[in-house]
Amino acid sequence: MKISEIKTFPVVVGTRNQMLVKIETEEGIYGWGESGLVARELAVQGAVQHYREFLLGKNPMQRGRIWQEMYRSQYFEGGRVLTAAISAIDIALHDIVGKKLGIPVYELLGGKQREWVPTFATGNGNNTDEVVAMGQLLWNSGFKAFRLQYQHFTEDLLFEPRVALAATATALNAAREALGPEPVIGIDIHHRYSVAEAASFCNKLRPDTLDFVEEPIRDETPEAYAELRKMTNIPFAIGEEFASKWQFLPYIERGLTNFARLDICNVGGFTEAMKVAGWAEAHYIDLMPHNPLGPICVAATSHMAMAIPNFSWLEISEAPGKYDPTVFPSQPKIEPGKVTVLDQPGLGIEVDESLLNEPFIFSEPPHLHRTDGSHTNR
Ligand SMILES: [Mg+2]
Repeated sequence: MKISEIKTFPVVVGTRNQMLVKIETEEGIYGWGESGLVARELAVQGAVQHYREFLLGKNPMQRGRIWQEMYRSQYFEGGRVLTAAISAIDIALHDIVGKKLGIPVYELLGGKQREWVPTFATGNGNNTDEVVAMGQLLWNSGFKAFRLQYQHFTEDLLFEPRVALAATATALNAAREALGPEPVIGIDIHHRYSVAEAASFCNKLRPDTLDFVEEPIRDETPEAYAELRKMTNIPFAIGEEFASKWQFLPYIERGLTNFARLDICNVGGFTEAMKVAGWAEAHYIDLMPHNPLGPICVAATSHMAMAIPNFSWLEISEAPGKYDPTVFPSQPKIEPGKVTVLDQPGLGIEVDESLLNEPFIFSEPPHLHRTDGSHTNR
């Protein structure tokens, strides 16, 4: 079996871009992958085009060797753009190998360890009452775990951390009081705080309010997380931006994260994700995968989740049109609190290529500013 073509589709599906990759083989078997670098997708497309130059003619069965060749073939190895491209290719290769052998991808990874994949949802509110109501809505709809997000910035993109953290802490304290001890409640700060601000936020929460706080600060400096770790006992959830096992290294080895927010479309596909999963297992850390993309990401992450023991919840969010069944006529079954993968060969994904025709749109994440005019973290 030889790779005969690699196609890239940076296109709009629903309300946002998806960066999809299709790998075809001479014998007609093909596989789909998705890149996880949200924004700057055309840079990933360029990286895939570079890899295409030496991947044509390769045997997809040798996906481990191909991963090494993609990662180590340039002098300046690694980085988020390159591993987002590697991820999409590696996922598509696993889809091909599963189809070739006639088995679901989870069988390639060790076989089923669970019947379905638990998920968590995210609810947003603009004030304390809305946050509390959103928590009750998610709990009553069947989610055992969810993130409750307070509106952090205004319509003109003004963000003041001290204002946001005080209001958010008030809302979360009220939500826990209303919901009782059973729901798993977390929050994603999207790394908008400094160490001091994150510590103040955690200290304004009553004990046992949060089960996890996700990315309170940026992750370039593990030493900063080590300092924050001393200031709060709330579990941390970190890792959605990590582009290799080496970026996970200090966070796992030094106990800096308690949930691994691995993104299979960023970290390097199945080949790298399974290594991180095993490494996290050795430290009794569960994977809580990042999953904001389309149904190919849902399918890939779910197959991985089926085959590993150390797993908590898969992120799920159904933005309008993202999982459009006309574009993706075969995809995992999504219900409140769970995802079920299809027991068909490969990922169980089908894509109507003729519908991948909405042109890519340039879009920017919010560029936030403070009241003094300075730029601050997205
Ligand atoms: Mg996040």
